[in-house]
Amino acid sequence: MTQIIDTELARGESYASKFAEYAGMSIRGEELSRAQCLEVLNSPDEAMLDLLAATYTVRREFCGNKVHIHVLMNAKSGICPEDCGYCSQSAVSTAMIEKYPLVAKQKLLEGAQAAKDAQAKRFCIVTSGRAASWRDVNYLCDAVTEIIQEVGIKVCACVGLIDEEKARAFKEAGVDQLNHNLNTSENFSPSIVSSHTYADRMETLQAARSAGLELCSGAIFGMGEAQDDVIDVLVELRKLEPQSIPVNFLHAIDGTPLEGKDELSPQDCLRILCLARLLNPRQEIRVAGGREVNLRSLQPLSLYAANSLFVDGYLTTPGQNTDEAWAMIKDLGFEIEID
Ligand code: SF4
Repeated sequence: MTQIIDTELARGESYASKFAEYAGMSIRGEELSRAQCLEVLNSPDEAMLDLLAATYTVRREFCGNKVHIHVLMNAKSGICPEDCGYCSQSAVSTAMIEKYPLVAKQKLLEGAQAAKDAQAKRFCIVTSGRAASWRDVNYLCDAVTEIIQEVGIKVCACVGLIDEEKARAFKEAGVDQLNHNLNTSENFSPSIVSSHTYADRMETLQAARSAGLELCSGAIFGMGEAQDDVIDVLVELRKLEPQSIPVNFLHAIDGTPLEGKDELSPQDCLRILCLARLLNPRQEIRVAGGREVNLRSLQPLSLYAANSLFVDGYLTTPGQNTDEAWAMIKDLGFEIEID
């Protein structure tokens, strides 16, 4: 790599001008080639500010200086029959987590109010399991209708695999977005989960879209995937055009099959976020699970690529609290956008 950098610098072609060219392509709606994507992912740490500066021009063009906050609630935890390697709630995980059935409606209402108080744009209700039963769907639909009437906040549902009929029930109850992550590339997916397929995930997203729901779909990085897998899933998301793309970085929890995996440096995470933005210029890109443990002290820089973040923790792990997130956003000179 050092040799390549020297050669390019000798040619007078700096990373700054190269990344500015990629940002221009992104703003014009042109897709970066695989070689250009690889250049972003392989760029050296000393070119990080050049990459962030160029990526920020894309973020500023389509998202201004606004930041969206999301708060999620694990409404049903653990006891899942699936075998997703990254997940502490799976059948193959021995992680010491809290396990409980669907929480009471009152708890969902309180969670929604806490999200509103945190200036969240959306409250995300997540349930563990392969797919929600009709009993759970109806229960959640009633809760969502109450949340919208009494709290007045947008709701996203993440309930595993779903068909169009159940998706339509959520839509009618007032859910505006359904989250279902692609998680990784089609090629790498069987290395992470065997109990359902990438095609199953795609079908869920198509069902949600057919039912009129907006899509939230993203990925988890740092699970052992190759750079081609990183590019594949980000390009697939570009084709899919979800309204919202959560970018997660593996937080390897003890007791999960991926325990001990720690592949990404904070700079690697930033390069992935920048590529996510360059390939998906208009989307809401959320720096999501694993932000704190992977980006560490570089977390603020992530918002030059992303325009959204979770506060107050994840499904089974804690995260940055609301006050700290607000302070970080303010210190960066960004503004929280609620609607
Ligand atoms: S990610 Fe969802 S489907 Fe997979 S094991 Fe965890 S709770 Fe189950």
